[in-house]
Amino acid sequence: IGPRQVRGAAFTWVRPEKQKDPELLAVSPAAMRDIGLKLSEAETDDFRETVVGNKIHGWDEETNSGPGYPWAQCYGGFQFGDWAGQLGDGRAISLFESTNPKTGHRYEVQLKGAGMTPYSRFADGKAVLRSSIREFVVSEHLHALGIPTTRALALSLLPHSKVRRERIEPGAIVVRFAESWIRFGNFDLLRARGDRDLIRKLANYIAEDVFPGWESLPGRVEDPKSEESCLNPPRGVGKDTLEGPEGEEQNRFARLYREIVRRNALTVAKWQAYGFMNGVLNTDNTSICGLSMDYGPFAFMDNFDPKYTPNHDDHFLRYSYRNQPTIIWWNLVRLGEALGELLGAGPDVDEDMFVHQGVKEETAEGLVNRAEKLINLAGEEYKSVFLAEYKRLMAARLGLKNFRKEDFDGVFSPLLDTMEALELDFNLFFRRLSTVKVGELATEEDRVKVAAKFLHKDEVDEKDVSGKEKLAEWLATWRERAVGDWGETAEADVEREREMKKVNPKFVARGWILDEIIKRVEKEGERDVLRRVIHLATHPFEESWDGEAGYEGDKEEEVRWTGDVPRQGRSLQCSCSS
Ligand code: AMP
Ligand code: MG
Ligand code: MG
Repeated sequence: IGPRQVRGAAFTWVRPEKQKDPELLAVSPAAMRDIGLKLSEAETDDFRETVVGNKIHGWDEETNSGPGYPWAQCYGGFQFGDWAGQLGDGRAISLFESTNPKTGHRYEVQLKGAGMTPYSRFADGKAVLRSSIREFVVSEHLHALGIPTTRALALSLLPHSKVRRERIEPGAIVVRFAESWIRFGNFDLLRARGDRDLIRKLANYIAEDVFPGWESLPGRVEDPKSEESCLNPPRGVGKDTLEGPEGEEQNRFARLYREIVRRNALTVAKWQAYGFMNGVLNTDNTSICGLSMDYGPFAFMDNFDPKYTPNHDDHFLRYSYRNQPTIIWWNLVRLGEALGELLGAGPDVDEDMFVHQGVKEETAEGLVNRAEKLINLAGEEYKSVFLAEYKRLMAARLGLKNFRKEDFDGVFSPLLDTMEALELDFNLFFRRLSTVKVGELATEEDRVKVAAKFLHKDEVDEKDVSGKEKLAEWLATWRERAVGDWGETAEADVEREREMKKVNPKFVARGWILDEIIKRVEKEGERDVLRRVIHLATHPFEESWDGEAGYEGDKEEEVRWTGDVPRQGRSLQCSCSS
């Protein structure tokens, strides 16, 4: 196989390379369970050979026949805002689909780093151990945090592979799975080629195969009274979601688009609430299911800084923390444009209208006009779903029972300003706040004392008094809100702490921790550290990991990994090369 431009198709059949002496480094017990495998099945040769692509399920090597054969997807994308043409799965190969018989969830199982495909372009089809460890851990971690993501099942080392990046590095394969690996870039490419027929087929495939049951979800959403009560994740604004810009009924494609808009709005709200940054939100890395995906230079926020981007090459801060909601919307507009006339066609979308490449000229303009209106309407929905979910999560993280209108300016903004000014650790802040008792905040002097808890231990004395006072002032506001919601009793403190710890992780898979693990696995040959980090990453809210079934921890490590980020380990950046 060599690089090639593929037309009239959405994927190419392609076989993973054969690997010699692969070493299975780790599996995710949570992912094994979710895909419907017993943990003990990871011990079998069949599993070990399948997870590196040596064995192909559904294909008989003797007779060269079978019901299934691996494939790589064809897609394009806008990278850093510019159209990049055809990209495709350059180092990912899908093996098969698998349905968990217990849950009915179906996943597309895929290898990353299993060799060249027709979409490898100038690159080698390989993945290095370093970036594979990062993807393996963060996929499972985001899932445990309740953030939609592609998953990671297993990580294998390829002992004979030498991969050239900035230096020569060991290669690895991650097995991952997702409801679907289709990205906005799949549509972008078809649009660039004017292949309207395939756009419609792909959209129908998503509507019928990827989002099962979504069309029977209630069209009309409850008015979420989003000011007062946003305790349930919003599904839409208080409007009839079936209604188009002129109040008409919307066709399937318009509804599908809005479903994709809502899913992405929910996910980006969760990223913002937990300080997660993808780092390369190109349209080829944006999922139609609203999954976090394609883990390159991602990071969790350490010290709160909205301008921070984890991507070393992101000079214009396009993919910085504060830009993520805008960029996902920018990507959604590209998707809307790719759907184009399908969106604008109104309720009686004429099947024949699209089978030929293009629509009649006299109708095209009207359709595009209507599509534009529909995209704008979806933009309103994006904003309100995003905000409702962000407010819900931030209120929960702050231990408030409900979000109130005045909380945005009264509680959230001053907190974020203070965090930025004092360079407080975003995630540790919420975990530490969970343990504060309202009684400890009675006087100004008390509050200044408590404020010191949130500063980095090695910096407490460096911060001037006004900084601590600023935080103390915010703590007074918070105290009032917390007392209003919970009361002032000792039991209320206990109950609030319990609730807050369910949404404020103790362990966060930060850059410096991943770097330490990579070094220990790669340079020092450690293996067990992977089992431990996967345990913490998939149980991030637990107070203590002691005594959990089948888990043996390392106290020293846990204390270090859940405490202050070492000074030289904060706000690390990665380059895209992985
Ligand atoms: P990314 O920046 O990871 O989203 O990748 C952009 C495009 O480059 C995708 O089409 C990838 O499949 C492709 N790509 C990245 N790294 C490699 C590699 N080592 N071999 C082949 N293709 C790659
Ligand atoms: Mg990508
Ligand atoms: Mg990538």
